[in-house]
This record gives sequence, C-alpha cells and structure tokens, in this order.
Amino acid sequence: MKVVFTVSALFMYSWLVQAQSNVAPVEPKAPQSFDVTSIDKTADPCNDFYQYACGNWQKNNPIPPDQVRWSEFIQLRERNAWLLYKELEAASVADPKRTPLQQKYGDFYAACMNTQLANEKGVTALQPALNTIDALSDKKQLAALLATLEIRDGVSGVFNFGVGQDQKDSSRQIAQAGQAGLGLPDLDYYLRDTPRQKKIRDDYVAHMTRMFQLAGDTPENAASEAQAVMAIETALAQGSLSRTDLRDPAKRYHLITLAELETLTPNFDWPSYLQGINMGAFESLDVVYPQFFSTMNAQIGAQSLKAWKSYLRWRALHGAARWLSDPFAEENFKFYNSELQGQQEMAPRWKRCTLATDNALGEAVGQDWVKKYFSPEKKENMTKLVTALEAALRQDIDQVPWMSDETKKKALEKLALIRNKIGYPEHWRDYSTLETKRDDLLGNVARADIFEDRRNLAKLGKPVDETEWHMTPPTVNAYYSQSNNDINFPAGILQPPFYDFSKDEAVNFGGSGSVIGHEMTHGFDDQGSKFDGHGNQVEWQTADDRKAFSDRTDCEVKEYGNFEAAPGVKLNGQLTLGENTADNGGLRIAYMALMDTLAGAAPAPEIDGYSPAQRFFLAYGQLSCENIREQAARNNVLTDPHSPGHWRVNGTVQNFDQFGKAFGCKKAAPMYPETSCRVW
Ligand SMILES: [Zn+2]
Repeated sequence: MKVVFTVSALFMYSWLVQAQSNVAPVEPKAPQSFDVTSIDKTADPCNDFYQYACGNWQKNNPIPPDQVRWSEFIQLRERNAWLLYKELEAASVADPKRTPLQQKYGDFYAACMNTQLANEKGVTALQPALNTIDALSDKKQLAALLATLEIRDGVSGVFNFGVGQDQKDSSRQIAQAGQAGLGLPDLDYYLRDTPRQKKIRDDYVAHMTRMFQLAGDTPENAASEAQAVMAIETALAQGSLSRTDLRDPAKRYHLITLAELETLTPNFDWPSYLQGINMGAFESLDVVYPQFFSTMNAQIGAQSLKAWKSYLRWRALHGAARWLSDPFAEENFKFYNSELQGQQEMAPRWKRCTLATDNALGEAVGQDWVKKYFSPEKKENMTKLVTALEAALRQDIDQVPWMSDETKKKALEKLALIRNKIGYPEHWRDYSTLETKRDDLLGNVARADIFEDRRNLAKLGKPVDETEWHMTPPTVNAYYSQSNNDINFPAGILQPPFYDFSKDEAVNFGGSGSVIGHEMTHGFDDQGSKFDGHGNQVEWQTADDRKAFSDRTDCEVKEYGNFEAAPGVKLNGQLTLGENTADNGGLRIAYMALMDTLAGAAPAPEIDGYSPAQRFFLAYGQLSCENIREQAARNNVLTDPHSPGHWRVNGTVQNFDQFGKAFGCKKAAPMYPETSCRVW
C-alpha cells in the first residue's frame, strides 16, 4: 500500500527463493572479509580488476540450484536467515513459557511451515476474497470493492495508496497515490517487442491461464480471463511512468486536491474507497503521475465488468499463490523464478517462512535477534567509521574543482545534517494488535499486511517519527532516505564480509567504509542533490553548478551505458546513475578516510603481500564478487538500479586514479585511463 520513492538502498532487496518442503536445513558457512584465495593471480589487475579480485571466487562458488545470484553478500543473508530460523524454530513450539512476542512470531512461523494444512485448504483459504470479487455487479462499486480487498483480505489492487512525507515539505505526512497493478516486473515486458519480451508476454498469459484453472475455472474461461487481465495491464503499463523517470523527483511529484483527483477519474468513487480503508480527512494528495489515474479511469470505462472481475481475481490469486497449496506455489515458481530469473530449484521451505516472518514481524523477531548477535562494540566501531567518513566527505566537497564556494557551503550544511542510524530502532514497533494463528497461514500474511497498512494510514497529519526504520534488524543491506536525510545500517550488515574485527583497517575501510561512503554520497547523487538537509526538494545549487553537476553525471551515464550487463545487452546508464554515483563517491571518500586514519601512525605493514591501499581495493572489490544466471541478469538490467558486480568494481576503480597508483598500473591501462568520470 505504501508509496515510498525516497529511499536508496545498497542492494536491490528481493528474496528470490521459493519453497520446497523436503530438504533438511543445512547450516550455511559464515562469509569472510577479503580472502586471498579468491584472487586470480593470472589476471592483470590493471587490465581487469574484477577478474583479478574475484576470478577464483567465481570459479569456487557456483550458484546453488535454489539461487539466481550468488555472492558473499547473499551468503551473509543466508547465514542471517539461518540464525533467524533457529530462533523461529524454537519459538514455534507451543510452550506456555514463550514471551508474548515469541508466541506471535513462533505461531506465524509454525503456520507457515504447516504445508499439510496449506495443501488441504488449497484455494479455499482465499475464498472470502474471491467470493467478494465474484459478487461485484456494477463497475460503480469497484472503488468500494478495492478498499474491502485491501483492508479486509490484504489483496492489493490497481494502485498504491498510503501516507508519506511530502517531497517538498518533509515535516508533513500526506496522502499519496501511485501507479501499480502490474504482474510483470517492468513496463518493458509489456511495451517492447523484442523476441524475449514477446515470449515472456505469451508465457505470462499461459501462466495466468493455468492459475485460473487451478482455482477451478474451465480452460475456456481461464483463457479468456487471462486475455482480459493482459489487456488491462498493458493499458496500465502504457499509462505508467518508467522506472528511470520515477527517479526524477520533478516527474514523480504532483500535489493535487482530492476534488481535482475526482475530476480526473470520474469513473472511480474515491469517497467510497477512502471511507472503505478508513482514511482520515485530507484536502490534497501527491498522485505521483496523474496520467496513470486517467488511464485507470479510461480502463474502468472501456473494459467490461467481467474483465475487471477477472483482473481482480488475478490480483488475489497472484498475491496469495506462494501461500496456497503446492500446485499454486509450483506454478508461481515456474514462471516468476524459473523462467524470469533462471532459478533451477525451489529453496527449502524454512527459508521462505523465515523471510515471511521477518517481513511480517521483523521488529518482534529482531528484538530478540539483536540481543544475541549485535554487540555494543559493533555499534562503537561503526560510529568511528562514520565519523571518519564524514570528515572525508567534508574534505572532498571542499576540494571538488567544479563547485562554487556558495554551493559548497550549502553542500556542507546538508552533510552536517545527515543523521546516522546504526543497528536497530530506539523504539520497537508495537505489535500488540496483530493477531497470529497457528492454523491460518494466509490469514496471518494478510493480517500482517493490513497491520502495516493501518499503521501507515494512521500517520496522516502526524509528526514524522525520525527513529523509524524501513529495514528490519537482521537485514543485510543499508539505505539513505532523502526525506529524512539519514543513513541507516541494520545490524545484519555489520559483520563479515562488510565488517570484520579480525582484519586490519584497510580491509574494513574497503568494506564497511565504502558502504557508509556509498550511503552518504546518495545525499548528493542525481536524486539526493535535489533535496536539502531537511529532506525538502529544493534547488540549492547555483545554475552554473547544477550545469557542471549534470555534465559530470552525464559522463557516468555514458560510461556505464557502454558496459555489457548481459550477453548483448548494455546497462541502462540513466537507471543506474544514482547507485553508480554513490559507488564512485563512496569508494573515493572511504579511501581518503583510510589514508587520514593511517597518516601519522607507524607505516602499516604489507599483509599477504599487499599494501594497505591494495588491500583496501581488494576488500572493496570482493564485496561484489558474484555469479549470476543469465535470465536474472537480463531481468536486472530492466529492474535493478544497481550495476552488476563486475561494473560496481571496474567502473569505480577506473574512475579513481589512486587505484592505478596503488597497483603500479601504466597510464592508459584500462583500469587507469587518461580520462575518466568524476562527480564526487
Ligand atoms: Zn545505493
């Protein structure tokens, strides 16, 4: 339900596994920071640093059959999932000595693991929603029906609706409505006519047809329902803003009055919808992209009642598929995981149920998890690193050649206002009103979604809670929030390969240091630079400085746009611009911070035959060692704002002359070119 565009994460956070029940859990090994055995010493670091830093890692770490991508980062995610699973398994035993929180998450997990019950229930678990859709007799009641499906059954509809910070006044929490309602991962799948896109469209229709049949529809009905859904989704895709355009704050912000929205969409009964979801009163809202709503309105007029019922039936089946009986879960796996991303096997069910519990009750499980796995010492070390990185970014802003003193002053003001959140929230979310039952998997998932929706809608007009987190404590990721101007590092990422107490500073600055630098630089990338230190979208650069900034970001757009991301497919330099800017800036300021830290101390020794600078770059490079399936790589080109590991490494080091110097490269070598791109 939420509409949040103002968070930039370190990785795209999607959990790609699907369930399989008959595999016994195996404890995954703990990943490590910087490992010399991963290095391919037959490669020339000046020619292809990624091959040098990661060549042997790639050879020694084939993608497990239940994964589509494999890296030390994903291994850490697997490791955290395992530790969380042990907690959940213990709490899932109905023991009167459980704490109220253990009871909640333990029962959620127990219900999820009960495949026998899920198989017995089959599609009947979803019957209340399907019956309500079936009973729709007039398109005028579509709005009220969408509200019921969202707030009673946890079924998401055509658009996102929620409460979030006003992009231009971050102290206000306002209503927001944004585009949604598509079953394929990106607009391109609907709108482009490459052979791959056409095949995926055909297979998507076939997949929907099989799902309708599993729900009990005749083959003829199922086929015509699937065609109706495809027609509506294609029209919605045509009326949607692309992922790249959504990155532009100016294109995605349209504050209009509710009356104006009603005029824009006369076929949709907003008062019924808003009353249905129990939304508080408001006068204006951000509709993100008005054309989407006029498209929706036109489709309500143009498509039959029957077509709309098919569409909603699909939304309900698709949303619940993973939690219904095995045939639904398997059909869902075949299309979304196997065909779209190349996953070979379903993952063990415990993984999926662990993630589902973390999604639903993350701050309940997380409270107990951080007690075991997060020490105050980690927070202290991280705080020291953050302070060192802040000093480096200050110095970097002071020194950049293209910015006027006037704008530098504004940039430094913004930097001074960045808040740091490390580990886990100061206040834990209150789950007392969320009910979980041991015998109701789908109901638990729906109740958790609805709990979050209500929590979100209740923010309307309230002060912003700056202590809130958008990731759960065990998450292996980090993010920068434009509206809050804060950087957030969940407890889950503060371990090897990112932070390792047993390693030297060079390795930790290359790991955690570059991650902190990455998040800080997001405050000054193509999106972040359009927001001030208070999280409001305002221009704080002079016209000349903005021009110089754009020339520099254009250089990165072209540079990365020439990198091959999948066989025969170039990376989208515009979509990945913010992440590439953050990678480049993050690496540079982490390096500066390391050099500042080492200055004045006794010269650091070589370790494993590498100087501190070399170890820094190797630790940084090895964070991105990965293997990826071709289908996933092709899908990521369309959906992931991050570059593939290969270019997160080679793209950044070739733009940073300290790399070429550290490895003694000859000028004009591929990793030490005569000219390169630099924003920060
Ligand atoms: Zn990022």
